[in-house]
Amino acid sequence: TKNNASLMARRQAAVAAGVGQIHPVFAERAENARVWDVEGKEYLDFAGGIAVLNTGHLHPKVKAAVAAQLEDFSHTCFMVLGYESYVALCEKLNNLVPGNFAKKTALFNSGSEAVENAIKVARAATGRAGVIAFTSGYHGRTMAALALTGKVAPYSKGMGLMQANVFRARFPSALHGISEDDAMDSIAQIFRNDAEPADIAAIILEPVQGEGGFYVASPGFMQRLRQLCDREGIMLIADEVQTGAGRTGTFFAMEQMGVAADITCFAKSIAGGFPLSGITGKAEIMDAIGPGGLGGTYGGNPLACAAALAVIEVFEQEKLLARSQAIGQQLTRGLRQLQHQYAQIAEVRGLGAMVAMELMEDGAPAPQHCAPILAAARERGLILLSCGTFGNVLRILVPLTASDEDISEGMAILGESLKAVLG
Ligand code: PMP
Repeated sequence: TKNNASLMARRQAAVAAGVGQIHPVFAERAENARVWDVEGKEYLDFAGGIAVLNTGHLHPKVKAAVAAQLEDFSHTCFMVLGYESYVALCEKLNNLVPGNFAKKTALFNSGSEAVENAIKVARAATGRAGVIAFTSGYHGRTMAALALTGKVAPYSKGMGLMQANVFRARFPSALHGISEDDAMDSIAQIFRNDAEPADIAAIILEPVQGEGGFYVASPGFMQRLRQLCDREGIMLIADEVQTGAGRTGTFFAMEQMGVAADITCFAKSIAGGFPLSGITGKAEIMDAIGPGGLGGTYGGNPLACAAALAVIEVFEQEKLLARSQAIGQQLTRGLRQLQHQYAQIAEVRGLGAMVAMELMEDGAPAPQHCAPILAAARERGLILLSCGTFGNVLRILVPLTASDEDISEGMAILGESLKAVLG
């Protein structure tokens, strides 16, 4: 008989150890904000497949759009025979991505690929090879994206030194004593000690760091980066893979920053559970690479394009941006109540419905509590994720289609789990 333990045993024997698994649970089916495992146990899903399910599991409109596409064709390769949905999706994204200028878009499969291609475009547009990324930033696991990712263990541990020409600036975090001035100084230091601005193609950052711990860049900080980039001819790349598709209360988080990026990376929730990513940027920058220099066999495949067009429609029809803001307020309120009860909750922070709490003890990060809290929540029927450079942040990525009752139920389970672990 199928159960989680026997499937875990088979997995351990058959799957490479590097592919981790947070919860020893195997899914059987899912609907909106709920998942059922192979043993019939029901869970509320506050992880959303790591920020992929802003429109919930199998949104009926997304499912219908993909099913309809399956009746026609599943693949031609857009580089061989075009199809309208790819073009229509690029048109939509050119409008949705912030920036008061003509834009163009290219589609890929994963967030990592979007990041890799953003760097390729920035290099071609500037004729420069250097990239500045940030401490605790996360940009993916493929080689160039991994070089940008600002955390060694587990991501690049044991793999040797990563690609050269990546310079690491400090990401601001008031809780950890890194001010915005410190962050700007760390870039000045790179220019002084490592590489002159004329060798830097791009500065890449997440408007809200995701894997790194939900540290939010302020509009003021983003504006200082924008000014610096304008002054030095550097491309500003916003990695909105986790923040995008409505998670932060606007379709893209950069809408709240008062300045636009030159290139924006998106993936995850944009296609409601289907593999699709892409980059949108200033038209002349995006056109810096000639025909054949961008793309891939599956990039913007028809099923994923159909899903993404449906996701964008669902956002409009169900007013999910307002919902993202409301869910964010409900979650923040709930987490702040818990913060009054548990001294270990050092900070509750986020943007829109991208909300987290960071655990500290005696002034030091307290990651030791995260796994027990995740396990206690799972036993009580709630799937949660942790994150953070120090592994001490509990984050919430609940579908924006979840009901108020789903949210309160999840928050109640979180409260019970904290009580069970932190007393
Ligand atoms: N950038 C950010 C900000 C991400 O959160 C992620 C995924 N967690 C990636 C890039 C990489 O995306 P993928 O796993 O689809 O390659």
